[in-house]
Amino acid sequence: MRSAVGGGAVGRALATAWTADRGGVLRAFLLQVLGASSALGVVLASKLAIDGLVSDEGGVPRLLVVALALLAVTTALASSISVFQQQQQRLLGEKVGQYIWRRLLRACVAVDLVTWESPAFADRLERVRSNALQRPTTVVGALMGLAGSAVGIVGMVAVLLAIEPLLIPVLIAAGVPSVLFSRIASRAEFRFASGVNAGLRRRIYLKQLMTGRPFAAEIRAFDAGPHLVGRHDAEDVAYLGALESHVRFRQRVGVLSTLASAVALAVALLLIVLLLDRGRLSLAEAGAAAIAARLLGGQLSAVFTAVGTLVESGPFLRDLEDFLAGLPQDSSRGRRGPLRDALSVRGVSFTYGSRDTPAVKDVDLDLAPGQVVAVVGENGSGKTTLAKIVAGLYAADTGTVLWDGEELAREDLRARVSAVFQDFVRYQLSAADNVAIADTAAPHDRARVERAAIGAGIDAALGALPRGYDTHLGLELSEGSDLSGGQWQRVALARALYRDASVIVLDEPTAALDPRAEHELFSDVRRMLEGRAALLISHRWSSVRLADHIYVMDAGRVIEHGTHDELLARQGRYAELYTLQAAAYLD
Ligand code: ADP
Repeated sequence: MRSAVGGGAVGRALATAWTADRGGVLRAFLLQVLGASSALGVVLASKLAIDGLVSDEGGVPRLLVVALALLAVTTALASSISVFQQQQQRLLGEKVGQYIWRRLLRACVAVDLVTWESPAFADRLERVRSNALQRPTTVVGALMGLAGSAVGIVGMVAVLLAIEPLLIPVLIAAGVPSVLFSRIASRAEFRFASGVNAGLRRRIYLKQLMTGRPFAAEIRAFDAGPHLVGRHDAEDVAYLGALESHVRFRQRVGVLSTLASAVALAVALLLIVLLLDRGRLSLAEAGAAAIAARLLGGQLSAVFTAVGTLVESGPFLRDLEDFLAGLPQDSSRGRRGPLRDALSVRGVSFTYGSRDTPAVKDVDLDLAPGQVVAVVGENGSGKTTLAKIVAGLYAADTGTVLWDGEELAREDLRARVSAVFQDFVRYQLSAADNVAIADTAAPHDRARVERAAIGAGIDAALGALPRGYDTHLGLELSEGSDLSGGQWQRVALARALYRDASVIVLDEPTAALDPRAEHELFSDVRRMLEGRAALLISHRWSSVRLADHIYVMDAGRVIEHGTHDELLARQGRYAELYTLQAAAYLD
């Protein structure tokens, strides 16, 4: 049976359901057994009723009255149990679903950024999300059906054994084709799901583009809507084509397997008629046997449908388990500690998995407490990648990041650095939560939130919102208040300041600010940083020139470094870029 159901799909599904909700599994199982027993009661009551009908007793036979009463009771019991069963399964399905989602989400937030960013991971995650996660409820239903039917079958077989053992092998044989057909169907299903996955992801993305708030203005400005709708339609057509041929295949397999079962039931009923004709069965026995055969047929086909569902779900559940097994099970929070002496980057190189050339090559850089160190360079020169290495988000391929001379575990480095990137998140949460999310290890501290907001120059604006710091920001989830681009950027900056870290990485922190706002923020940058060391990536010379030390990057390497004055005097790349920008203003 194990191999027939796809390498232990039953065991896997049962283990999952059992871990998620023991009590629920037991209750559902008990209901199934009760349901199956009441079906047996129906068979016995029917036999009694026929016996009563054909008895010689005058008037209304007593046996008939008892039998009919029993029939009414067992039938009522069977149907009320089935209502209970359905609701119980619904609850169990939800619990199993929650259990699997909990595991998946824990693993997702714990997974390393490099892995997360790889297309292979995105593909796999989407496949698991769109296929495997819908399965638990189906699987739980199938499991419970299987348990109840198994009990029912044992009972029916016992009844049939007493009446006519010959019927048993015929009815059992009837189920074999449907197991075989399920196996074919399940493989086809998995192949289909894997084949359409990439297209489905594109379709989801296009839907987001056309329905998501952040894209609305640009899409209208470029009149790109109809083009995007066209692309989406093409994905629809491709998916529908694949689905149509898959569905036709599944229909053919389904019809064949149902036909095989129907033929077997017909053979069994014919056999009963024959045995009645030969006098081997009494009328009451034949009646009960026919009902038992019908019910057994039903139970068997329920078992085979359940096994079919489990077989079909097997590859998806295995996919989910394999995926989860390859991921970390919990995020580990690193150990914090102050920077006393210096953070030093030594000989660091990093190449993205999908690239041949390194994004960062042999970089040395030093950062001391209270210092502002800027990194400048043209687009694609490796600044953000370097910042992510310093923040402990990427592991350098070669070279090290030293914290007071010591090489830290990456989660410890992450715990000690605060970072805000160009594509910072606009959390659809309250203003206070938007800041405090940077340090959830500590209890939410409103005074600290306000201090960070003052540092980032956004305190007054947040305080003036309809519900102050408790105002929900963003309009995607509820009626809230939206902020301007520059205000959002200050909120992100406040977030970086809120985190209890002695190094802060600021990747283009002022890109959305107007020159006056930037000047106000950066003229007093050291007060804002309160003694922290800052690694600043910026294209804005007004803030870069205030830095204590400036590194100039080109094609992943540091090509020169020094103070603003030293670099200008060198007449190198920095001077060239600076003059270019200055000239643009002066001309
Ligand atoms: P900068 O911040 O100076 O603009 P980046 O560090 O973002 O530069 O990028 C450096 C190089 O690495 C570029 O060639 C860029 O295309 C590449 N790159 C950046 N991010 C990724 C990524 N996730 N996968 C592959 N290549 C990347």
